[in-house]
Amino acid sequence: MAALIPCLDQLRDEIDARWPSRDRRSDGWKGDAAHQLRVSDHNPDSRGLVHAIDVDVDGIPADAIVHHLTGAPRLKYVIYNRFIWSRTVAWAPARYTGTNPHIGHFHASADSNPGHEQDRSPWGIATIGAGPRPPVKPAGIRTLRLTDPRMTGADVAFVQRWLDPRAGKIDGVFGPRTDAAVRWYQRMRGITADGIVGAVTWKNMGMR
Ligand SMILES: [Zn+2]
Repeated sequence: MAALIPCLDQLRDEIDARWPSRDRRSDGWKGDAAHQLRVSDHNPDSRGLVHAIDVDVDGIPADAIVHHLTGAPRLKYVIYNRFIWSRTVAWAPARYTGTNPHIGHFHASADSNPGHEQDRSPWGIATIGAGPRPPVKPAGIRTLRLTDPRMTGADVAFVQRWLDPRAGKIDGVFGPRTDAAVRWYQRMRGITADGIVGAVTWKNMGMR
């Protein structure tokens, strides 16, 4: 029988304890048939141990969690939203080019050091959110684009803060510099670079 290593079981328990009503539909740990055709930390090793979990990002501050986890001695790498952070490169972010962009869930791989596998010491998930917070979500979000006259509002300011400092002055006015910043962001995220902040771009910015 395959088993998830205790340290990752502990991580999942802490996330569940902090956000009990989170969406778990994209959660996973043991590889499916497709995983078993390739090398994956979701496949049980020779001892039957699985060294990876996927965590659904709906209902949790995934950016903050991923940031918190990078550098953790028990982990090898973390993948989220087209980026991968790996211990082998000192946890520097790099574009992730695998077929699954990891937008609906983040993936965490742990190492095979038996001491780490069994280590159930807290991951510190309970403390996430005590530090700087992402920009406050505006009340109403529209599809934003460069128009004449310009679109203005709190949702425009949100986008400018998200892209700060690339978008220039945070004045809530969607001008050419905001447009250029949005296109840059879209290219970086691998989505259509049309300068339009619609459903896909909002979702990439953490709005659903
Ligand atoms: Zn995974």
